[in-house]
Parts: sequence; structure tokens; C-alpha cells
Amino acid sequence: MNRKEFIATISLLPFAGNTMNLNSLYKFQQDLPETDKMPVLFLGHGSPMNAIEENEFVSQFRKRGKELRKPKAILCISAHWETRGTKVTAMNHPRTIHDFGGFPQALFDVEYPAPGSPQLAAETIKLITKAPVEADDHWGLDHGAWSVIKHMYPNADIPVVQLSLDYTKPVKYHYELAQQLAGLRNKGVLIIGSGNVVHNLRKVAWQQLNEPFGWDWAMEANDKIRSLILNGDHKSLIDYSNLGRSLQLSIPTPEHYLPLLYALALQGKNEEAELFNDTTVGGSISMLSLQIA
Ligand code: ZN
Repeated sequence: MNRKEFIATISLLPFAGNTMNLNSLYKFQQDLPETDKMPVLFLGHGSPMNAIEENEFVSQFRKRGKELRKPKAILCISAHWETRGTKVTAMNHPRTIHDFGGFPQALFDVEYPAPGSPQLAAETIKLITKAPVEADDHWGLDHGAWSVIKHMYPNADIPVVQLSLDYTKPVKYHYELAQQLAGLRNKGVLIIGSGNVVHNLRKVAWQQLNEPFGWDWAMEANDKIRSLILNGDHKSLIDYSNLGRSLQLSIPTPEHYLPLLYALALQGKNEEAELFNDTTVGGSISMLSLQIA
């Protein structure tokens, strides 16, 4: 991007003119070097309580945070931010959103003060040509993002930007839009999809929310999804509504499933998807997660 194009892009951002110095932003862009390809993650976030509990799932998140090369920034696609049209958070200091109810006060007390990155927002807007992407200054970090990222980066020292899910669009659209984010992997950006491949809250056994068991249909759907991921059959995963009743029961609404497709859309031809946290809990929530590297 040359300076003129950059100024044109950045001028779309909220507050760009009054809180940030355009020259310094431009310098940041110039300084954002090409890097080795960053991995991509899909994280099954499950219960919001995972944010403050210690268990096998969060220890895996922590392990990834320690082992991966430190990213310059994170772009998170969370199940919990659905909008009409596509938006990207562009504020300097995203607030911690407690978008749930009925949980202990300790969970509402969690703050995750990671900075934002108007620069990454600008880069994302530039890369996505499939649709206009709106810079957002209202959202922040919802629990789909902070409940997992806080385990990976407890010091909150990596800038985090969220990209929304346009609820008006079909599944394939999301996959194709995600493919346009590929260039970010070579700029030190860690892309994280956060959702759950099996997620039916109406069928959850609430008293056993984080206990490892799944209803038959949930296990069947998880098995199918796992093997399609391992076979690299993205087409069938996009057409999940044609895969039978177990998938329909497991994915009653698409928002927790779509972040998986954002991750898979970025899988290169010779890249493996390594699965972890492949456990179904509470009857109808799969924690299955993956790393593409
Ligand atoms: Zn969720």
C-alpha cells in the first residue's frame, strides 16, 4: 500500500483523524514486515466459565500461547459477534464485553485490557474485497475472544481485533471471505476462529456443563466433522446442512460453527490440521479445536 492509499483507507476508520497520528500509523504499516507464515487456530470455547476455570481445555490454550511464535497482533472471528454486513473493531482500547448472564460475579469481574490495532483493522479492510468492511468503534472483545485469548496471552500485551460474522450471508460466503485474509498470516498476525463445532444449548445438561460426555447425535456429528477436517473435505463441511440429522441437531444455528470455516479457509495445500481438545462436554458442546501450521 502506498501512502496515498493508506491515508484513504485509514480515513475510513473512526477517530483516525483525532486520536491517532496518521504519520505514525503509516510508519507502522511500513514497519510491518513480511514474516514466516503464522499458524491459524480454531478454538472451541465452550462455557464462559472456562475463562476462570482450570481444566484440560484451557491448559491447551495456554500451551499454544507459550509455544507459538509471538504474534504482532491477533484477528479473532468469534461466534458472539454477528452483524448485518461485516465489521472490524478499530478502536485503540477495546472494552471487555460480558455478553452472558447467570454466571458468578467473578466472571463479570474479568477484564482483558489488550490493546486494539487500528492498523490491523485498516489492513483487514484493505484485504477483503468481497464485501465492504466497516470499521467499528462500539464493540470490543466479547467472551468468545477474551475467554480463550486470556489463557494464551495472560499479560494482554498482544493487540486484538475482532472481525464480525455477517448473519445475512450463506455459509460459502464466509469461507470465501476468510480466504481473503490469507495475507495476514505473512504479517505476523495470528488468526483465531472461536466457536464450537457442536453447539446446541437447548440440549445441554446444565448440571454437567463441563463434564465429558455427549449425546449420541452429538458424538456422531463430531466424528463426521473430525474426519472431514482430517480429509481436508472443506466442501462437505461448507455443505454441513446436507450431512444428516446429527449435524442439524448439533448445528441448530450457524454462528458457533462458522469460525471453524474461517480457520479452514486459510489452510494451505500442504498444511496439516492438528486437532486438540477433542472432547464433547455437557451432552451437546464439542470442544474440538485445531491448529493449522
Ligand atoms: Zn459461545
